[in-house]
Amino acid sequence: MASIPFDNSFARLSDTFYTRLDPTPVAKPGPIAVNDALAAELGIDAGWLASEEGTAVIAGNVVPTGAEPLAAVYAGHQFGNYNPQLGDGRAVLLGEVVTKSGQRFDIQLKGSGRTPYSRGGDGRSPMGPVIREYLLSEAFHALGVPATRALAAVSTGEDVFRESASPGAVMARVASSHIRIGTFQFFAARGDQEALQTLTGYCLDRHFPAQAGAPNAALALLDAVIASQAELVAKWMCLGFIHGVMNTDNMLICGETIDFGPCAFMDEFHPGKVFSSIDQGGRYAYANQPAIAHWNLACLAQSLLPLLHPEQDEAVALAQAAVDSFPVQYQAAHHRGMANKFGLMEISDHDNKLVEDFFELLTNEKADFTLAFRRLYEIAAEDTSEISEWFEFSAAFELWLAQWRRRLKEDPLTPETRAERMRLANPVFVPRNHRVEEAIRAAEDEKDFRPFRALLACLADPFTWRAEQAHYAQPPLPQEIVQQTFCG
Ligand code: AMP
Ligand code: MG
Ligand code: MG
Repeated sequence: MASIPFDNSFARLSDTFYTRLDPTPVAKPGPIAVNDALAAELGIDAGWLASEEGTAVIAGNVVPTGAEPLAAVYAGHQFGNYNPQLGDGRAVLLGEVVTKSGQRFDIQLKGSGRTPYSRGGDGRSPMGPVIREYLLSEAFHALGVPATRALAAVSTGEDVFRESASPGAVMARVASSHIRIGTFQFFAARGDQEALQTLTGYCLDRHFPAQAGAPNAALALLDAVIASQAELVAKWMCLGFIHGVMNTDNMLICGETIDFGPCAFMDEFHPGKVFSSIDQGGRYAYANQPAIAHWNLACLAQSLLPLLHPEQDEAVALAQAAVDSFPVQYQAAHHRGMANKFGLMEISDHDNKLVEDFFELLTNEKADFTLAFRRLYEIAAEDTSEISEWFEFSAAFELWLAQWRRRLKEDPLTPETRAERMRLANPVFVPRNHRVEEAIRAAEDEKDFRPFRALLACLADPFTWRAEQAHYAQPPLPQEIVQQTFCG
């Protein structure tokens, strides 16, 4: 049997952190997709992964040599309410691989059957959410946003029952690790300082090795996680992305986006936009995301208190100072991202109004987020008018555009540098809801994976205009608009 070169550091920690168990076999594994490039990076033979044997491994029917399957335990705040007992309820970690460049990755099977943490759930995943996660996570990779990745997906030959029956699937997900804020919360809630200490050291070594020798390990970890979340959420905001379920168990310590359930890229811009069918209060609305990340980081800080300092008030002061730095770091990251989107060397305080006015116009005009920014790039680049045939700024933007052009004249960037920065900050192809839904419907209803593959191929290069793929760049027609997305 070909092999996956496992080296399982998490499994070497004590079983306080997980329950060992094998995935539950399925009736009839069938291949859906294999990510050749990612497989190669991980030292896995993509041909083997696509073979009957590889398909059986991803389905959970065969446990490969060197794997040490386990379900990890965690807790978490779900929509603000603490749930003391969560965990991998429908996933097992097969193990880890280390790439040639020394990066360590988890390989997890999602939808692999019940575990001790399944609560009422069936441990399975319908095909729809697998297709969605595959598309979204690979789109994120191409967009340069840290995210978990899709190594492979298989069908199970079994039905999964949600509102109705749909075909089941399993996805092999790759992440720098699956340790979450909720993992720390689980051990903090039980007062298990030894576990917290182990986890802190483990995460520093694995994710932030430059800080591994820091005198205060917990503070170093907290600072590093805060910095990486500030970068991550700023990237989401710059792309008009709404995560939809920013529970503390869905925020990874490594700083990668995880859980592409009820998420969406916005078409029409509105700061209060919500897609998640279960987010009735709009807690995870677009504009709330930075504040929610801040709140989640306070939960991490709270969990680390006993390690930060032996004196409680000293510990609280350190935690508070760290958490208070988030809004400043977030704003700096957001400004950097927005500077690239608007074609400016930097966004200074004088520019805040220009930026705010643009977003106000987007809101009032119900303009398409992605295309509005792409059109700005085209205007700045002068010689391109690829999307102008079907997207142009309304008359309401005229005054704003004149102000922006004046501002560009004062900016030190050369036109070439500006155009290239804007191109790479303003993608033309994003995974639009209606196209993702179309791919899901074809896969679920007709076992036709061609729309999925075509969309996946398009999203691999989001920044280069291709006229033959214009339909992926266009916003939905009124009858195509997707109002809600679901957890699966
Ligand atoms: P999520 O909303 O996807 O972050 O999931 C929250 C928790 O529910 C996690 O601990 C999952 O493992 C668990 N979960 C979600 N769906 C299922 C399912 N179908 N069966 C068992 N557990 C599940
Ligand atoms: Mg989750
Ligand atoms: Mg989920």
